[in-house]
Amino acid sequence: MEGYIFELLEQYDYENLIFIQEKSVGLKAVIAIHSTRLGPAAGGTRMYPYAGEIDAIKDAMRLARAMTYKWAGVGANCGGGKCVVIGDPKRDKSEALLRALGRHIQRLNGLFLTGVDVGTTVEDIEIMHQETQYAITVSETLGGPGDTAPPTALGVIYGMRACLNAIYGSPDPKGHSVAVQGVGAVGKDVVAHLVKAGAIVTIADVDQEKVERVAAEYPVNIVAPGEIITLPVDVFCPCALGAILNDQTIPALRCKIVCGSANNQLADEKRHGEMIAQRGILYAPDFIVNAGGALSGIESIKPGGYNRQHVEEEIARIYDMMEKLIAISQEQQIPTYRAADLLAEQRLAQAAKEKI
Ligand code: NAD
Repeated sequence: MEGYIFELLEQYDYENLIFIQEKSVGLKAVIAIHSTRLGPAAGGTRMYPYAGEIDAIKDAMRLARAMTYKWAGVGANCGGGKCVVIGDPKRDKSEALLRALGRHIQRLNGLFLTGVDVGTTVEDIEIMHQETQYAITVSETLGGPGDTAPPTALGVIYGMRACLNAIYGSPDPKGHSVAVQGVGAVGKDVVAHLVKAGAIVTIADVDQEKVERVAAEYPVNIVAPGEIITLPVDVFCPCALGAILNDQTIPALRCKIVCGSANNQLADEKRHGEMIAQRGILYAPDFIVNAGGALSGIESIKPGGYNRQHVEEEIARIYDMMEKLIAISQEQQIPTYRAADLLAEQRLAQAAKEKI
């Protein structure tokens, strides 16, 4: 293995790197456990045709570390972990492979909990669930959370309310203009909440059928995908692509708040996190406000099992987290993305102190 991987393990204090191989079913996977300081490591299982093992290891490590920050940042008692399977999900996925992976995860005895990610579906996780109770994002009939899009959308709304309160002095979306980019699984639910709350909503999607479906159900304005980012609105709500906040788009934004579900919105976290703050736009860190689905996912492992009311209470805490990190950002004069990291680091440091 390249010395580089050992350097990363050392630099970022990873706890475990687990290699899984079962040649008879074509399974080759890596599980990275970054931290279990706050609880069992939890993160999705990603399947992707990586160019080589090193790429897969690096991705598992990067994503596991991001999960540590996500859980710590939203106040959940989970640690950071991720599983990546090397292979093309369209060609290489099979029941035998998924079951084998499930057995390997079961052997870890709860060190790692997993669910859906890029290249895997709820059906895949349910196959793994036949071999391990630690494959958790299964349907409600199997005691899991079911579709994670609705709780994700709910979390975005709580985050947005905290941002509205910080900028306009009231969390109420009523009368505020919101531009929603992408009306897929999460975006359409965000629209539903916003319309119900009396916001003025404009939508765009590259998929015309989705635009028509949402417009048939809710009173929304429609613009072309190229126009949604630069609309003069109170809130821009990205629910489609990553890297949407970059050198080209940030100078063109005409909103006061960016708050949406899309993962990795800042093309370059440091550069663009600072650039958007300098423009005086309040950016809601994606990994905080899109955590509703993840919070819903880990609910099924709690004593007593999945409890919808408790999940909703947990998701409501996204408001408090967002409020807290806005306060840190203002007090310390730092961008919100950095305040979110600080909040997570403070929780991890506190947990380390308590364990000694
Ligand atoms: P989705 O695929 O159902 O919806 C995405 C929508 O964006 C699609 O309708 C697509 O046509 C549209 N789109 C793509 N490119 C576009 C563009 N240039 N302009 C306008 N629209 C465009 O995905 P989703 O599950 O709704 O997730 C949306 C985002 O939220 C993703 O970044 C995802 O990673 C993130 N997220 C989702 C969840 C979840 O539980 N589903 C949880 C956390 C984060």
